[in-house]
This record gives sequence, C-alpha cells and structure tokens, in this order.
Amino acid sequence: MSQQGHPHAERKEFRQLISAEQARTLIDQFDLPQRTEAVPIAEAYGKVLAENVYADQSVPPFTRSLMDGYAVRAKNTFGTEETKSIRLKLVGQIEAGVVPEGVVGEGEAAEIATGALIPEGADAVVMVERTDLDGEDVLVRKAVAPGENIMNAGDDIVSGDLVLRSGARLTPREIGVLAAVGRTEATVYRSPIVGILSTGDELMEPGQALTPGKIYNSNAYALQAAIEEADGEPRNLGIVGDDWEAIESVLQQAARECDLILTSGSTSAGAGDIIYHILEEQGELIAHGIKIKPGKPTIIGRFDGKPFFGLPGNPASAYVVFSNLVAPLIRAAAGRDPHPRTGRLRARLAVSISSDGGRLEQKHVGLVRSDGRVRAYPIEKVSGAVTLLAQADGYIKIPEGTSHLEEGEEVEVVLLSEELDPPQLLFMGSYCPGVNLIIEHLPDLTVRSINVGSTGAVRAIRKGIADVIGIHLLDRSGEYNVPYLQTSGLTEIALIRGYRRINGLLLPKGNPADVSGIADIVDRNLRFINRARGSGTRTLLDTHLKSIAAERDLSLKQLTQRITGYEVEASSHSAVAAAIRNGVADVGLGLEAIAAMNGLDFVPIAKEIYDFLVRKDDLERDMILRIRKLLQDQGFQAELRKLPGFVPDPNSGQVIFQS
Ligand code: AMP
Ligand code: MG
Repeated sequence: MSQQGHPHAERKEFRQLISAEQARTLIDQFDLPQRTEAVPIAEAYGKVLAENVYADQSVPPFTRSLMDGYAVRAKNTFGTEETKSIRLKLVGQIEAGVVPEGVVGEGEAAEIATGALIPEGADAVVMVERTDLDGEDVLVRKAVAPGENIMNAGDDIVSGDLVLRSGARLTPREIGVLAAVGRTEATVYRSPIVGILSTGDELMEPGQALTPGKIYNSNAYALQAAIEEADGEPRNLGIVGDDWEAIESVLQQAARECDLILTSGSTSAGAGDIIYHILEEQGELIAHGIKIKPGKPTIIGRFDGKPFFGLPGNPASAYVVFSNLVAPLIRAAAGRDPHPRTGRLRARLAVSISSDGGRLEQKHVGLVRSDGRVRAYPIEKVSGAVTLLAQADGYIKIPEGTSHLEEGEEVEVVLLSEELDPPQLLFMGSYCPGVNLIIEHLPDLTVRSINVGSTGAVRAIRKGIADVIGIHLLDRSGEYNVPYLQTSGLTEIALIRGYRRINGLLLPKGNPADVSGIADIVDRNLRFINRARGSGTRTLLDTHLKSIAAERDLSLKQLTQRITGYEVEASSHSAVAAAIRNGVADVGLGLEAIAAMNGLDFVPIAKEIYDFLVRKDDLERDMILRIRKLLQDQGFQAELRKLPGFVPDPNSGQVIFQS
C-alpha cells in the first residue's frame, strides 16, 4: 500500500504525553478575543450581556393603582365594617394612561382603573369588590391603610439603579427588564467562530448512500451542536480525505474565517495520521498526546496564528476532549463562565470499576433510581461506539493513579444534561418487540431498556445493574431458561414467565433460493449472517447445528466451517434483517415479527419462550408486580397476539422458578 500525500507522513511515536492539567495551562494562553455587538432587544434572546445596564428612568415612572376601585384618603375609611359602610362623594373617573385632573379631597373618592395614575390628594385605593354605588356616592365597606393597593414611583426600579449585570444570560425575564427601562438595544458578546474540519478517507455525509468501507461523518454534527451549546458559532468545513495538500488548504481557509480551528480524525501517531505533521511543518505544534481517557491522541497547536485543536476521530473521545479542553475557551470568549457548575449528583456504583490508573479517566455512566437511591453503572461499549454518549447520563472522573473503584462506593456523577431524571427501571436483555409493548403500557414509569444479548443480561442482573432482564436461552433438553438458570449458579433470583414467540429464518421477499430449513444453510452455498455469541438466537442456531453435526458424525466446528458467514456477527435482529434486505446476506435467524416489519419472507424454526428474570428481593416491588399483572391482563395479551408470532403462555406473569 502506498502512503498518500506528503513524504513526511512516516510512522512516528507520540512525544511526551502531557497531563490534563498541563494541557489546561497551555490552553489558558490562547485567549480568544472577546467581541461584542449591539443587537435589538427582540433579537437578544439567549445572548450574553456585555454591558452593565443602568435604568435612566424609574419603574413605574409614577405612583399607580394596583386594583380596579376607588382612590381615596385612607383616613376617611377608618372605622368602616362590613355592616357599617362609609359614604364618600364620587368626584371623577381615571383610566390607565391618562393624567387625572383635579384633586381627591376630604370625603371624596375617584373611580380608578388598575395601572392608572393616583390622583393628587388620594393615598390609597379601595377594591371595587368592597364598595357599592349609590347614585353619586360610593359606599365603602372596608377600611384601607395609607399606601394600600398602590405602587409608588420607583418601587420596582429607581432611576440610576444597576438593573442587569454584564455576563447575564438574556432570558425572557431580562429582556422584559430591558424593555421596561426603555432600552431598544443591548450590547452582547459575539460568539467566536469555530471551524470544524472532518478528516478521513472513510467519511461520507449523512444523506449520501454509504459505499463499502465508509461511515457517516457524525463528529461534525455532534461538535457543531456542542459548539452552539458552548455559545460558539460553528462553521462546518466539510470532509477532507487523508491528504496533506487538501487538509492544508482547508486549514488556511479556516484560519482566515475562524477564531478557533478544530479538526477530527487523523491525530494518532500512526502512518496516515498527518495532522500533527502539518502542524509541525506549517504551524506550531504545542502538544501531541494528553493523559486523558478517552482522548489521548489529541493535538494542541496554532495554525496561521489561530488556536488549533486536533481532536481524535473516535466520536466519544472527540466529545470528551471538546468538553474538557475546548468548550471552556469558547465559553470564555462568549462572555460566559468557562467552568459553569453543571448538574452533579451522588450515586453508588452498581459494579466495581477498574481503570489503568495511568491517566485521568472520564468514565461514562448510566443512572437508575431505586428506592430513593441512585445507582451508577458504567456504559460498556466497544471503543468508537457513537451510542456511548447517547446512553450515558453522566460521567465520573477517575483520577490518574486510581486504578479501582469498589462496588457500592459513593461517587460524584457529572450530569451530561441539566434536566436529567434517572429512569425508575432498568431493563436489559435480548431485543423483543414484546418488551416495547410492555413499556408502552407503563406510561407513568420511566424505563430505560438496553439491548444486550441474553447472557450479557444475565451478567448484568448478577452484578445488580439491571432490575429486570429478558432472556430466551434454549437448553439441549429443548427447554427454555430454567435449565440454564439451574446450572448458572445464580441465586436469589426469580423467573417470571413472559410469552411465546416464533423465531426462524429471515429471507429475501419471495424466498428466491427456496430455503426451507437450517440444513439449507449448511448444504447450499448461501451467504449466512450470524448473531453475536451470547445472544439467545445464536444459542438457538447452535443447538440446531449441534444436532445436525451429530447426525452426520461431525464436530460443530467441522460443520460450521461449511457455512459462509458463520463468523459474521450482527448485533441485533434488525441488523440481520437489514443485511438481508440490502442483499448483503441470503439468510439469517430472527423473529417472525421482525421479518414482518421488514417485509421479508420467514420460515419458522422454533417456538421460543421469552421470560423475565428479577432479583428475588424485588418480586414484591410495585414495578415488578405491575409487569406481572400486565402479562396476565387479557387486554395486553390481545395486543401481544397482534405481533406476528407472539402468543401469551398459560403461565404468563407467574413466577415459574426461584433459586
Ligand atoms: P482516527 O482518529 O482518524 O484514527 O479515527 C479513529 C476512528 O474514528 C476511526 O474508526 C474513524 O473511522 C472514526 N472517525 C474519524 N472521523 C470520524 C467522524 N468525523 N465521524 C465519525 N467517526 C469518525
Ligand atoms: Mg482517520
């Protein structure tokens, strides 16, 4: 293979890794210019104020009535009771916005509207509800004190007051204040312009049809939103392949147009990762490699004088580095606190966590509420998964030098979003449309459901992470779930009968290869797509293959070697369906309901049982009781039957096994 681009792109190691602290010190020297502009108050929403605003007028500018009623001299009403009213002479009527003529004298009253100017002579307002009209007179049934139902000039704001401080975020309340003191414009901070260049020959834009070996550019869009969240103005500079000249020319454009330049991808020390060579040759390389996890292959530098960050291509790494190192810089330039105190909460670790200890690690966690406490569980994803952050509620920081956190330990979780409400129930398990139906029937419960294979789910309940798991594990005996649990060594658990569903072969529409059973996968040269080890569907397949192998006097291995695609593992039912729909595979295993949803043909193989496993202690928990009741409910069962291949079991909702 030849190396594209520049002769300098030979393999190089990271130089000295710097700590996160050192990186921050270096970055502090990049002060981005703070720029301001005047904007009409109608366009100021969400901006950060860059001036102190003083009132050059009092609010209210005059003494006014707070009620509809009668302006009076308070002392004229003293001694009044419900049964003994006082008679005052009506001398006029004052509307809002009009300057009253005349004076309210002894024994007199003037009708007044809310917001109208208090006439001379009056010092209180009697509510209209406490009065009666009698010809030209008003009968007052309740005494008022001086000042009652009146707002004095300047009660709200006195002319000369500091009403808004520089740095205030302009929300509806602040904008109301600006208008109340008569301002038409406000001076606000201008967002720094932040360019994002995505590098990588494998990238395509969402909307284009993916060709083999390509992925969608997700970083540019995630970063664009993150820049906006930090009050920057993103400028998406598109995708450039791993090509020295092309990258360099876009960087030059970025340096002209932007205040800060970000790239994603091409930052490792491997051949082909050329960003740091470009910085070294054409710019200023300040640091390459930071001791944070994720995010080690990060580059800090300048290009044509503009601050530059080379973020790793891995989406989670790019986001973590952005939020830790880049966002504070943008916020400061936008007039905001660079390190706002984000939402935090204390939680107990559901499992012990280990870290390599060599660098500061930001571990993303999910949260779940239970009995008034919050548990945090690590989001375990292969490195590079885009959904890692989407499934996380927050993160914990494991300092450099700490390699282990104990299960049950209390940790501080930094929340990824301000308005976070941890779910009440964490479901994990094998994907099942029946589970979605259950969740739909519990609309007042917040449930998070995470699809992992059946055996992954068993691990999660063993560790105390999940509250309920869904499993369909076939034993050699032909029975589901119970034999598996009997030999699993799991204790203190209870198995709740779920329902039955049909699993089988997913085939292209019309079944062009005329496939009729599992033996066809072995004997006919079809392209198969498998499911991941640990999934119940994989167990189902292997159980069938084992019996075919036994009939033919072969080992399972010898048999599976004959299957094209046995090693290709799809992560979900839907991924199998997609592969078949797109013509990438000829056959795979999955649910009848999935076949129906995807317009595929289907050959039934097994009537499975899908059950729910909970901790014995939780059996009487309200949420678990509700799920059990639902499974037994006639209406729910009728809806379940509408899913192709799904039927309730006579024991649905019953505890069928405990240990
Ligand atoms: P790199 O930093 O170029 O070695 O890339 C690391 C990983 O991140 C590779 O799997 C890339 O395909 C992936 N990646 C790079 N850029 C992006 C991007 N803009 N969006 C999504 N993934 C990316
Ligand atoms: Mg790359």
